Amino acid sequence: MATEHEHRDPLPHVRTLKLLSVVAPVFNEDQLLDVFYARVCKALEGLPFELVLVDDGSSDRTPELLAAIAAADERVRVIELSRNFGHQTAITAGLDHASGDAVVMIDADLQDPPEVIPQMLDHWRRGTDVVYAVRHRRDGETHFKLLTARIFYKLFDALANVPLEHDSGDFRLLDRAPLDALLAMRERNRFLRGMTVWIGYTQTAVPYERDARYAGETKYTLGRMLRFSFDAISSFSHRPLQLATLFGFLVSLIAFIAIPVVLALRIVGSYLPGFGSLTIAILLLGGIQLMAIGLIGEYVGRIYDEVKGRPLYVVRTRRNMPPVDADDIAEPR
Ligand code: UDP
Ligand code: MG
Repeated sequence: MATEHEHRDPLPHVRTLKLLSVVAPVFNEDQLLDVFYARVCKALEGLPFELVLVDDGSSDRTPELLAAIAAADERVRVIELSRNFGHQTAITAGLDHASGDAVVMIDADLQDPPEVIPQMLDHWRRGTDVVYAVRHRRDGETHFKLLTARIFYKLFDALANVPLEHDSGDFRLLDRAPLDALLAMRERNRFLRGMTVWIGYTQTAVPYERDARYAGETKYTLGRMLRFSFDAISSFSHRPLQLATLFGFLVSLIAFIAIPVVLALRIVGSYLPGFGSLTIAILLLGGIQLMAIGLIGEYVGRIYDEVKGRPLYVVRTRRNMPPVDADDIAEPR
């Protein structure tokens, strides 16, 4: 055993694990919670870990199941949010409540196999601060989802200055230091994938095969995906706004070129009916202006959301967690 270990792992371990936190958001997943819990326990057998499950306002039997699991196993901590706050916020709530020196975020639908976590831990022990899992195969996703994901990543690359690994989801492990840096970012429009790259530190990828959902359906509708994509891009890039300016300059340039042309035609005396071209110009300009205003509106709306400074989420119940002050119910920081 020892030689095999040395062969695979020539570098000495620089970290020893005191506690691993596994954070998973759940939203109406009563069909698979028990299986998820069992698989995490099996994959992490012998390791000191806590499982932080965030109920993101489920309306099925998820809360009861969570209560039962927490009652039977004190390593399982449950945070029940007061309503549905969305995937990224639910993960954030879990991260806020995790106390491990290494923390993994993982989807509860078993698309991210918990069996990969020990490999991620190996990298962490050897000193990597952020280990993200990169899917080199995705099962059970529609062609449409794969195509839209490809388009999104292309667009994100073109517009934002954050080198995002294309095939990484939110499945990743963070050391305590980068996690604290991540949690210091309290912005409302959260794109955790981008934010974990933004904080820096040493980062490594671990390949894995993404499975199909164990049961139930995806909670991301097309509308939600579109909103998520624009949240992602707008929180890492001002380039769409700059594009509006660029368009403005281009159109003005065309107008300036047009002036001498029109004058010259006037002098030469050729007849200019003008109606069609005018209509097109007016409609085109009107359209571009409205688009630019809408784009600015998207950013202004997001500024408004940030400025209100509301807590990111509201916690209704905590299980297997130390008690908190009554006035501290919104957020632990
Ligand atoms: N989820 C959540 N809140 C939401 C939507 C999803 O907590 O509003 C959870 C969901 O239970 C799952 C994970 O986030 O554990 C990923 O969601 P899903 O599988 O629906 O997304 P997909 O894998 O299709 O992108
Ligand atoms: Mg999923």
